[in-house]
Amino acid sequence: MKGSRHAEPPGRIHMTNEHPHARGGKFLEGQTALVTGASRGIGRAVARRLAAAGACTYLNYLKNEASAEETLSMITGAEGSGMLLRFDVADFGAAQEAVQQIIRERGTLDILVNNAGITLDGIFVRMGPDDWNTVIDTNLKGALNCTRAALRCMMKQRRGRIVNISSIVAETGNPGQAVYAATKAGLLGLTKSLAREFASRNILINAVAPGFIETDMTAAIPEAPRADVKKMIPLERLGTPDDVAGAVAFLVSKDADYITGQVIHVNGGLYM
Ligand code: NAD
Repeated sequence: MKGSRHAEPPGRIHMTNEHPHARGGKFLEGQTALVTGASRGIGRAVARRLAAAGACTYLNYLKNEASAEETLSMITGAEGSGMLLRFDVADFGAAQEAVQQIIRERGTLDILVNNAGITLDGIFVRMGPDDWNTVIDTNLKGALNCTRAALRCMMKQRRGRIVNISSIVAETGNPGQAVYAATKAGLLGLTKSLAREFASRNILINAVAPGFIETDMTAAIPEAPRADVKKMIPLERLGTPDDVAGAVAFLVSKDADYITGQVIHVNGGLYM
């Protein structure tokens, strides 16, 4: 402004509008979250991050109870709060019942992260319906099932955040991953359509599309192709589950109050 002067000495941080992250980082205090596939990898990192931010975090898992317990003890060891919730995201009834259980126990569900996913890579013509049904049931129908259950509650409370974990291959495609990529692209259509449908109810729905992240899912990829991918990444490293968790934490925070229907790419610049 012409003629105006700084009210404070330059460089001093103005604290009147306190940044939510400044309150000991507990910017999700009082909120309840559900993270699917939270026993390991990206789901574990997301669950830990949301719990560290103060959300009571339900950790969905399917088979690996010991690993889910390990995630839970990491959370409670850091003074966070969480619960284990075993169900198959591909099972519509089980997903509805699981969310009902959360509502009974907590009275609310504020955040849903649809993270559970599987890959079944192979030459497309060698795959059959049994193969692709498994991938579609988990990756796409799993998100539909959990989202349907969560929205019923979020609509009533006129508030909610949903984050769908898609993938870089939803946009780039990848040979050998036609079915997987189709499910991940489907999640982007779902994200954008629901974002439009539920914006008036203050339910914000976004997607995060990770690139190459070091988890059990990518551990089987041999060293040579792994090194080739690394060479193509402008940031010159593979991603970590924490890199993805940071984007999810941002999307469910107050800082993302005006963001819906978007896709955040977390890929070190591999795809722009
Ligand atoms: P991961 O295999 O380590 O973890 C996947 C989790 O989903 C596991 O805990 C598994 O038990 C769970 N899960 C699978 N089927 C389930 C079901 N039917 N019901 C409940 N839980 C189920 O994989 P990750 O690398 O941590 O991947 C997490 C998500 O991120 C997936 O959706 C994946 O497609 C996506 N992603 C991963 C990468 C990567 O490079 N790792 C890249 C892009 C996208």
